[in-house]
Amino acid sequence: MRIFNLHDDIGKDLATRKESGKPLSFRRSHMNRLGKGEILTSAAACWFQGTESFEQMVEMITVTGEEIQKRSRLILSPDDLNEINTEPEFLLTVEGMCGIESNPKQKICQMYEMGVRMASLTWNETNRLGTGVDGDPARGLTKRGKKAIRIMNKIGMIIDVSHTNECTFWDILRVSKKPVIASHSNCRSLCNVSRNLTDQQIVALAEKGGIIGLNAFGRFISEDPKKIGARTLAKHARYIASIVGHEHIGCGFDFTDYLAGYETEQKHDLFCAKDAPNFLSALMEEGFTEEEIKDIAYRNAFRFFRENL
Ligand SMILES: [Zn+2]
Repeated sequence: MRIFNLHDDIGKDLATRKESGKPLSFRRSHMNRLGKGEILTSAAACWFQGTESFEQMVEMITVTGEEIQKRSRLILSPDDLNEINTEPEFLLTVEGMCGIESNPKQKICQMYEMGVRMASLTWNETNRLGTGVDGDPARGLTKRGKKAIRIMNKIGMIIDVSHTNECTFWDILRVSKKPVIASHSNCRSLCNVSRNLTDQQIVALAEKGGIIGLNAFGRFISEDPKKIGARTLAKHARYIASIVGHEHIGCGFDFTDYLAGYETEQKHDLFCAKDAPNFLSALMEEGFTEEEIKDIAYRNAFRFFRENL
């Protein structure tokens, strides 16, 4: 069964390889593994941790966009989303816009021109647009951040709220006229970490028409190391379905097997893209029907992007 993965730090990997003079190996490192895992639509994220300049952002986005277009296809409009491709296709996304210190309109439009169709204002850090999960809990969106949201709404760049603190999350929901995504977050009620969503956040995000991509990153699945794996991640799906319906669930695996320093983070049955079908099997064990599993695997995400790109 095909899968749409809403978050994978592929851009970060390509840029790091390029910087250290290694071959980019996009086909071997990413395309092949995604194909084996039936992830036929994937968000290739350019990840910025809070110190990068706009020039560095542009460089990573350029490398990623060019590499994808050499070997595959970028999804730029709703018409580009198809369900018949047999090789992975990609959405170009940005995680953290720390490089935007001034003139957000020009810079966001430039990123859009380069193919970026989804972005989060922050990673975990505090920046000139908003506040990530590590920032002051009382600080939310800045004036510039509110402007960024309005520009993104206008040009059709999807807003990702996965790394924002709660204050910024609520500010974004108030300001955004369009539904938003939490591309890689789980439920805080089942795993109490700040990167996961509270029940109130899940309800509000769903009421606004958004979706939540479930994350395979070990520490966000369970506080008990013995319970980390696809089976427990499926329980997060069940939990969300029980409060807002399964229509608001997607996949946002956030694989780290290829990222230096994170290789051992996911030593479980969702270690890399090839393992993605294990999540679908776990959903079946959790009692989801085949039609519901198809929705979670890709149809909910397809619907969201068809309506909001
Ligand atoms: Zn992330």
